[in-house]
Amino acid sequence: MTFALTPPQQAYLDITGSDEKFPVRRIYCVGKNYVAHVIEMGGEADRDPPVIFQKPNDSIVRNGGEIPYPVFTENFHYEGELVVALKSGGYNIPVAQAAGHIFGYAVGLDMTRRDHQANALANGLPWEVTKAFDQSAPIGPLTRIEDSGELTSGAIRLSVNGQVRQDADINLMIWKTNEIIARLSQLYRLHPGDVIMTGTPAGVGAVVSGDVIDLHVDGLHDLRVSIGARAG
Ligand code: MN
Repeated sequence: MTFALTPPQQAYLDITGSDEKFPVRRIYCVGKNYVAHVIEMGGEADRDPPVIFQKPNDSIVRNGGEIPYPVFTENFHYEGELVVALKSGGYNIPVAQAAGHIFGYAVGLDMTRRDHQANALANGLPWEVTKAFDQSAPIGPLTRIEDSGELTSGAIRLSVNGQVRQDADINLMIWKTNEIIARLSQLYRLHPGDVIMTGTPAGVGAVVSGDVIDLHVDGLHDLRVSIGARAG
């Protein structure tokens, strides 16, 4: 087979302690998954089915990268999150079997055009342009589950220019990782290479050109990205 154009490069994540790369198929994201964040966004604490959306796999930025300040926003927000990567998939995965599909974990940022998200919410519009834009998915190196163990608790901490802005524990997730995998597999056939951003705790906020974001989850490789000059 000959393509008329050079095919896009396969999206991938680094793996700690390995020269192998993890090929990324889809990036699923979960919204409204920490009570304190739901409340800071003006919502109410509940256990509604998790909000699901996707980001394109070519929006990944790896550790040490620079994100140009994006077009089409004046309120560019970070959301620090635990990321889960799958080594296998399927439909209707039971919660009790979900952990058996996990390849490993990373830390990641669900970068958001918050001004347009507010507009989308107010007007019943899709979230696409607020969440799924270029370079909206910085994700650090993966740690294999054999090295980290199954992660159900541990500090998650985000700093901007060295000042702590988000400081919580991943055990505060409303929908736990295994429940998210099970729920997602009722909506989509999950596949090896799928990754899931599991939602952000309280403390989201804006960044500007020149800022440096550091994200940490206990037991995982840290992520650092900087915000560059305006794109376009
Ligand atoms: Mn998020």
